[in-house]
Amino acid sequence: IIRFQNVTKRFGALTVLDNFNFEVQRGEKVTLIGPSGSGKSTVLRILMTLEPFQDGLLETDGISYHEPNGRGPFKASEKHLHKIRCNVGMVFQSFNLFPHMTVLRNVVEAPVAVLKMKREEAESRATELLRMVGLSDKKDHFPSQLSGGQQQRVAIARALAMRPRVLLFDEPTSALDPQLVGEVLGVIRDLASEHDLTMLLVTHEMRFAREVSDRVCFFDKGRIVEQGEPERFFSNPQQPRTREFLSSIL
Ligand code: ATP
Ligand code: MG
Repeated sequence: IIRFQNVTKRFGALTVLDNFNFEVQRGEKVTLIGPSGSGKSTVLRILMTLEPFQDGLLETDGISYHEPNGRGPFKASEKHLHKIRCNVGMVFQSFNLFPHMTVLRNVVEAPVAVLKMKREEAESRATELLRMVGLSDKKDHFPSQLSGGQQQRVAIARALAMRPRVLLFDEPTSALDPQLVGEVLGVIRDLASEHDLTMLLVTHEMRFAREVSDRVCFFDKGRIVEQGEPERFFSNPQQPRTREFLSSIL
């Protein structure tokens, strides 16, 4: 459902992705781990069309929205942007809720504006999603009145309101106090059991990565150094660089 083919991404003189190749199958749950500055967020941001890139091809859910002709940087067309925003949801490290809107409106807004869903329908679905993330009683609060863990659960409900086929998480728990991490991981864990949803997750929570993912990818200096099924990946990493990284964080 996701395919990066020879994607090159530069910020000025800095090459973050150099002929990057990466595929995720429909329904697969994939975790990306790697050192700070290695380009993990950049991969997600490119997928989300928040970043243009200089060369290569990217295909998401059958939409290939950048032409591989080496003349970049490529920007997605409006039509493609719309399709991607309808099909791909993203949850950021810093929740990014709209501060002037209530919890309910944060969840309702995109389906109404982008999907043209009727407001009543969007509200009943938002209410359902807020129940799912355990926040039924907070729907009329503003983000500033919530804890970090609650705000992140709203952000997850908001992403789900678009019924995305692909959900991206960029370190969804790293801005949270340790005692709030569990509630957010719990919600993500429930989502991971949904067969049809494709998930790509950047995290430093290795135990969690091991539990929920079908595949773990170690990413360094703009490429995937090693990947595999979590059990094998964590118990018997093959590459010296992977071992070094795992021992530095575990
Ligand atoms: P972290 O684990 O710290 O979040 P990361 O793997 O997500 O790191 P990225 O945020 O993808 O790393 O950044 C990859 C590299 O690209 C870094 O060296 C960063 O400084 C650089 N970079 C990211 N965004 C920009 C930008 N907008 N302009 C210039 N350089 C950038
Ligand atoms: Mg990052």
